[in-house]
Amino acid sequence: MTTLKSSTALLVLAFAFFFCFIMSTTGSYVYFQFVQQWPPTTCRFSSKPSNQQRRLQIFTIHGLWPSNYSNPRMPSNCTGSQFNFTKVYPQLRSKLKKSWPDVESGNDTRFWESEWNKHGTCSEEKLNQMQYFERSHEMWNFHNITKILENASIVPSATQKWSYSDIVSAIKARTQTTPSLRCKRDKKTQLLHLHEVVLCYEYNALKQIDCNRTATCGNQQAIWFQ
Ligand code: 5GP
Repeated sequence: MTTLKSSTALLVLAFAFFFCFIMSTTGSYVYFQFVQQWPPTTCRFSSKPSNQQRRLQIFTIHGLWPSNYSNPRMPSNCTGSQFNFTKVYPQLRSKLKKSWPDVESGNDTRFWESEWNKHGTCSEEKLNQMQYFERSHEMWNFHNITKILENASIVPSATQKWSYSDIVSAIKARTQTTPSLRCKRDKKTQLLHLHEVVLCYEYNALKQIDCNRTATCGNQQAIWFQ
């Protein structure tokens, strides 16, 4: 009897693992996180030699990530088509060089390739490669986060700091939906730095929806934007 019980439990466990694995690799997602990064923060915390030639002071695309509420990092690395550079047409390529540069090492194509392979493949049921990059550029163009913050007097500063809600409210006032923020903590000073702004979109990547708050910006702690 005990053997039967434990083998049933084992079977259920194995099935659960198998189900989770399938869910994470077949591109089953609920919504999109459109993640834009603040390049100076990326470079400040990067272990890679950051691209100093392009000291960008605008939010640029990190990625368009099909996500699940139970685990926003999933799905990833799905079994879709591999990145094909010729599918990103010359006109789109020049737009992406502005909106989606590789701020860490300057190899834009390789950055697009890794984002497509890790995230884009999981939403291929909805957006093919061309549409995935085209739509990401449109999202970036539609809400200019740098300008939105600037208009709310939230600009890079060595002395002034903001609360999570100061930054979120400024963006929400323009986009009518709640963004989420991602921060990096300086291990030496313990200060929090604004790293990324996330806008969320429903399954079709057309309509914007509210994002859930992520934990990386702490609770109630001041945020530096430099
Ligand atoms: P994800 O792979 O989940 O899209 O994002 C995490 C990875 O993206 C990290 O390894 C981070 O170093 C990388 N990343 C963030 N921004 C850039 C960038 O501008 N260029 C490159 N090459 N990698 C980046």
